[in-house]
Parts: sequence; C-alpha cells; structure tokens
Amino acid sequence: MSVKINLITEITKDYDVIIAGAGPVGCVIAERLASELGWKVLLLDKRHHIAGNCFDTKHESGVLIHRYGPHYFRTNKEELLNYLSRFTEWIPGNYIVKSSVGGELFPFPINLLTLRQFFKNPSLTADEASALLEEKREHIESPANSEEFVLSRVGKDMYESFYLGYTKKQWDIHPKDLAPSVCGRIPVRLNEDERYVDHKYQVTPAAGFTQMFNNMISNPNIDVMLDTDYAAIKNTLKPKFATVYTGQIDEFFDFKLGKLPWRSLEFEFKEENTEFVQPCVQINYPNEHGYTRTVEIKHVTGQQHPHTVISYEYPRAEGDPYYPIPREVNAALYDKYKILADEATEKENVYFCGRLAEYKYFNTDEVIERAFHTFNLIKNRYEH
Ligand code: UDP
Repeated sequence: MSVKINLITEITKDYDVIIAGAGPVGCVIAERLASELGWKVLLLDKRHHIAGNCFDTKHESGVLIHRYGPHYFRTNKEELLNYLSRFTEWIPGNYIVKSSVGGELFPFPINLLTLRQFFKNPSLTADEASALLEEKREHIESPANSEEFVLSRVGKDMYESFYLGYTKKQWDIHPKDLAPSVCGRIPVRLNEDERYVDHKYQVTPAAGFTQMFNNMISNPNIDVMLDTDYAAIKNTLKPKFATVYTGQIDEFFDFKLGKLPWRSLEFEFKEENTEFVQPCVQINYPNEHGYTRTVEIKHVTGQQHPHTVISYEYPRAEGDPYYPIPREVNAALYDKYKILADEATEKENVYFCGRLAEYKYFNTDEVIERAFHTFNLIKNRYEH
C-alpha cells in the first residue's frame, strides 16, 4: 500500500482549511476533513517531510531509523487502532528496555525480574517482592513531585539508581521540581512482564510511520506544502472556514506573554557492521555518559539488514521543541495563552491541537485522540 500525496510548491487556489504542521495531528485532521466533509485542505510543514517527530527514514546504510527518537506505538482504544488500520498493516510492538546500573543491565521498568536482580534474590516471589517494596517505599500519601512519586513506589535505593540521574540528565531539573506525572509515566510491576508499557495494543506500522501518514493524506482534497513556515504566509492567505494550528502556542502569539520552555534533543546515529549490537531496542544510562539512552530501532521495525544503526540521544536546552516541561509555573503561563487561543478559536476559527499547541506531554495515540476531538469541534461548528 503505497500511494502518492499531492505535493505543491506554490499556492494557486483557495482552501477551506489551512493546517499548520503535518505531524500526526495535522495528518489526522486533514484526512478527516477531506474525507468526511469533503473540504479542500492545505497542509503545511516547515520541515522537508511529513509525519512530524514520528518521521522514520532510511539511514545512508539503508537501515530504517526513527529520526526524532523512538516511537513505541500503543493504545488502549480499539477504535483508534481500527482507524489507523485503514492506512497501515501492523507488526507486534517489541518494546523492551533495559537500564544500565553499576555495570549490569536490569529489566526496566522495574518488575519482579529487576527486583530479584537488584536485591540479589533469584527466588523472590511476587508476595515477597510486595512486602519488600512496602518496607522500602516512603509512605507519602499524595506525591507532589516526581521524586516523591518514585520514593513512594520503590524507595530511595532504586530511586537513586534508576531515576534520579536519568531525570536530571533528561530535564536538567531535579525530580523534586517536576510534576509527579513525569516519572509516573513508567509503571512498576510485581510480575515478570518486561514490556516497557502496559497498553492493550502495542503495535508498530509494518512499513513505518511515514508510510502510514503518507497513506492517510493521499487524498485528492489534500495539498501538501513542505519547507513552508506558517508564520510567513499567515497574513497573506485566508482559508474559507478554519485554520488548525499544531505548532508552539507561544509562537503563534509572537511570545507576547513570554516564552514557554521546551526541552530539546540531539541525536547521533552510528552504523555498525553487524546485525545487532544490543539485546533489546533501548538501553537507558541513568548514571553514566552524556546521552540518556541508546536505541537500536531494528528490534522494533523488524527490518532484515546485515548492518545496524544505534542512536545516541543527548538532551539539550536549545533546538527544536520536543518536550513541554511539566512544572507548575509553565502550566500557569500556558493557561494564559490558552485564554488567547480560545478567543482566537471563537473569533477567528483557529483551532489549537497537539503536543506543541497544547503544551502537554502527549503520546502518539493521545495526540491522535486530540485530533479526533478537534475534528469533531470543527465538524459540529460547520456541518448543517
Ligand atoms: N525515567 C527515569 N529513568 C529511566 C527512564 C525514564 O528516571 O530509565 C524518567 C525520566 O524523568 C523520563 C520519564 O521517566 O523523562 C519518562 O520516561 P519515558 O521513557 O516515558 O520518556 P520518553 O520516551 O517520552 O522520552
């Protein structure tokens, strides 16, 4: 299933909707509006490709890589999976992560196997592990930050081994100053389930994410224009009905209330002349190296290739925005921008959707749900 999108380099006609950003949100809303309402869509992206940070592409070696970090697609929603299944086939999600601590690789997230290895007790049962954690954990009723969250789950030793260094490296912020939800993304289990996440459906697009989004927006009603910054054209081009904006919310308003902080990443890709280097897709390095993790995405893409590519992920203060930073002060500034955004929706029919536009640490399935939500808002407003 490989179909062509309508790539344009010049705007020569009128559109019902302009969508700024051809990432997951932009592609889903474009597809919905084009297929369900028959709208003429202009889908813009400032990068040279579609699919946003889900973009996967062939490295010069021919190995398929996730250019902007690993995407482990998962969802609990069958309906969402069924929707995406119109545009891709799937392979099982082989999302296994280990953490390198004190020269040993431990299964991560923390599960019964991790506890046996960490506490050097190979016969530890689930009941014994539960009692052990009860003894180790700190009894904090409602954790107010990520440090308290982890201490209340696994106690000081494992917090300091697996979380503290990683979180400081990733965010350059102490876990005490980050919302509980940051480290709360990672489950803790008392069974031998080693998978990175808990979701019911854990699958990867068989031909990759870029191909899936490409298929989604291959529609005669959708024109795609790359290398185009929405900010540069917004004053010259007016859509008939609506605008969907998936970029940074503060940038849309010319940063007039101040800048929202973002965490960025830099990737180094290294080819190795062997089929596999790592035992699993991801190894975390909480306490060593400048990078947080090494990713060998071949474990997930299932690609057959005599070589492999490892990506080294370095957190950065500057660069493209990857992560909103979940702290109260930032949430408060976002709330002020949200008031302006709601006004723009009401008066100018501009809809804000996605990780950058809503300043929320959404996963891919979650942004797709947000896209459905925004599509419904637009549909209800315009459908007669
Ligand atoms: N984290 C950690 N140790 C790890 C992995 C994650 O302390 O080995 C913390 C860290 O603060 C990180 C958060 O948990 O930012 C969420 O991790 P996840 O792997 O979900 O992050 P993502 O893949 O979105 O970068």
